[in-house]
Amino acid sequence: MTDPYETLREWMVETQIHSRGIRDPRVLAAMRKVPRHEFVSFSQGSSPYSDGPLPIGKGQTISQPYIVAYMTELLELRGVETVLELGTGCGYQTAVLAEIAAQVYTVEVIEVLALDAEAILKRMRYDNISYKIGNGRNGWEEYSPYDRIMLTAAPAQFPKNLFDQLLEGGIAVAPVGDYFQRIVRYRKEKGKIKEETLIGVSFVPFV
Ligand code: SAH
Repeated sequence: MTDPYETLREWMVETQIHSRGIRDPRVLAAMRKVPRHEFVSFSQGSSPYSDGPLPIGKGQTISQPYIVAYMTELLELRGVETVLELGTGCGYQTAVLAEIAAQVYTVEVIEVLALDAEAILKRMRYDNISYKIGNGRNGWEEYSPYDRIMLTAAPAQFPKNLFDQLLEGGIAVAPVGDYFQRIVRYRKEKGKIKEETLIGVSFVPFV
């Protein structure tokens, strides 16, 4: 079966993602594969493959394709990892993670978004995603610790308690800040957290 949107995704990857320096072949393959239009429809003249964030309802947004690729690349996934994602939203980033990682645990605080995302992802036959409705401030204790943690909403300060759910050698990535936000990458090495402050971004708040 051919997917009519394949060329659109190829174009998206070439002009928005590869051209801006994303080189991880697993990330590029996932971005080429996941049908973004299943998560956010063509509406009011905007394309799911356009170079920006889009509304997904309930005041939330799906991140710009480049930012999804950028944050995924920062996790340095090799395919064997467990990932805790806080902020499922429409589930697009979840799908990109599930393409690469072994198992994704995703938590969403807005019930209707969580249920819609779960329905779409199940229809797409992802069988390596576990879903939870609730506030992700305390992570998801049950399956912790995780190899990787990703926040897709911005806390004013990173909730430090989440580091307890990160494995030694693990990586966490989040947009951090209230008005001015930056992507921050944390690495847990010998029990200590090393922090790298990266590009400026604009995410919805982590509640
Ligand atoms: N990556 C998502 C981005 C969604 S926007 C996508 O591709 O669609 C961020 C999401 O985080 C929103 O759906 C919001 O409801 C959720 N969120 C914000 N604070 C949260 C919290 N404390 N716990 C769980 N989810 C949260």
